[in-house]
Amino acid sequence: MLNRRTLLKGFCSGSALALAQAKPWEFRGDSGLSGNMRIWDQHAHLGSVPGDTPEERMAFLVRCMDRVGVERLILSQGYSADEHPTPDQIRQENDRVMRAVKAFPDRAYGSVYLSPVYLDFSLQEFDRCVRDGPMVSIGEIEAEARSNVRDMDPIAERAVAMNLPILQHEWLKAGGNEPGESTPFDVVELAQRHPRLQIVCAHTGGNWELAIRAIRDAKNVYAGTAGSDPTSGFVEMAVRELGAERVIYGSDVGGRSFASQIAKVEGANVSESDKKLILGGNLRRLLTPILRVKGYKV
Ligand SMILES: [Zn+2]
Repeated sequence: MLNRRTLLKGFCSGSALALAQAKPWEFRGDSGLSGNMRIWDQHAHLGSVPGDTPEERMAFLVRCMDRVGVERLILSQGYSADEHPTPDQIRQENDRVMRAVKAFPDRAYGSVYLSPVYLDFSLQEFDRCVRDGPMVSIGEIEAEARSNVRDMDPIAERAVAMNLPILQHEWLKAGGNEPGESTPFDVVELAQRHPRLQIVCAHTGGNWELAIRAIRDAKNVYAGTAGSDPTSGFVEMAVRELGAERVIYGSDVGGRSFASQIAKVEGANVSESDKKLILGGNLRRLLTPILRVKGYKV
């Protein structure tokens, strides 16, 4: 006979079983996102994360990912606070990223840090880390040269040749950008010279109302959601003007939190299927060719 007690018992054991079988990132606590929402984060760093080694820092990030339901992230730039790294420092940062990814191969992929200021070095570093190494994309490129400079062309050509995306740092700062700091307009210039390139604006200007308009007609430019305050209306406008297929979630951890950045998408007044694309579907689509080449899980 089914009474309240057996029902409760069955329910509890069922829930416990479901919870035990769930992967950590499938448990979303009181989040409004459904359990089958596979969140991939395109924009993550080891900077401002506790830990003495890349492995310790990545372990900390994994604990945070489990709490908020992030399955996988794309890691770049390591953790140096130096804003103008030399080629040796850039190489060291890429090594740190590869160490972190190696320690958690089913939670993170690496993305190579490059600079058009050191073009020859950067092409060698691309070959070392991506062509012959484990990494799966380019960027976040954050350099003292804007993304429209001619020395970005060979880097864009490498991305097209291996069919992988670039993540490009850019802002539209109210007080003016730093010298050499890219704007969304610079990203569009590069994208127009390379129609087969897929390039993501890392921050969509910060001033997203301007940036979304700036990139709207360049169909190979994507709006990244990372690294600005979680203001309402951003994701809604991006979906309306670009289509959900061109909007990509990223957090910019450790400079920002997962929760504040996921909230932009979770709280947006867009459909569940749009949220699926933004939180992971679009990134998996862009990375599928290179993940297959490398033999990684999609
Ligand atoms: Zn960043």
